[in-house]
Amino acid sequence: MREQLLHLLFPHVCLVCQKLLLPEEEYCCSACKETFDPFRTSSEAEDALRQTVVSHFGDHFQFERAWCRYQFHKKSALQQVLHSMKYEGIFNLGKSLGRQLGEWMISEGDIGDIECIVPVPLHRLKKTERSYNQSEKIAEGLAQSLRQPVCSEFLVRKRYTVSQTGLSAQARQKNCEGAFLASKGVRGRHVLLVDDVVTTGATLAAAARALRASGAEKVSLAAVAVAAKE
Ligand SMILES: [Zn+2]
Repeated sequence: MREQLLHLLFPHVCLVCQKLLLPEEEYCCSACKETFDPFRTSSEAEDALRQTVVSHFGDHFQFERAWCRYQFHKKSALQQVLHSMKYEGIFNLGKSLGRQLGEWMISEGDIGDIECIVPVPLHRLKKTERSYNQSEKIAEGLAQSLRQPVCSEFLVRKRYTVSQTGLSAQARQKNCEGAFLASKGVRGRHVLLVDDVVTTGATLAAAARALRASGAEKVSLAAVAVAAKE
């Protein structure tokens, strides 16, 4: 908390170690950034996401393609950075992570016929508590790199789900069932669904089901990080 407050007051200080940032550094110094655990290739990332979802929900990975930049470890510098984004309202950090994710996706090869970028929505009540949706910021950064529009209105959360922290995979699945509603705007489109960190994939699976039910032709996935197997 103290670190995040410091960052709001002194934006030129590393979010993790509080050293002064160099002009080319953003939010986090290169030494702290080096401790992040990036995937070497997009196919390695896609495999990790697939394994995460399949290990929790059996063999139905419902995504056309899937991209993810980092492996997420507990108590890591990345966790500290993502926490700042989520709870401390450092808006442009999400955008910056999204932009970097998009640039990496393009550098890794053809991203296919993605037509719109849809962030996993927060419920209206939660949005008021937190004042913004971090996935929407990541989606905005992705939109800049991928040159496709953000269509937040295509997916809404119709039910206020309880926090998933500490819930088992089954409990998470139950918590998310029927929580989303997609608009007819997705009909026939290839949608890129965006989240910050994938833990079991319960939220994403429920969101993807809603998009499909409203006629989305393909649903792909982009996330900043996926929980590493500890
Ligand atoms: Zn640092």
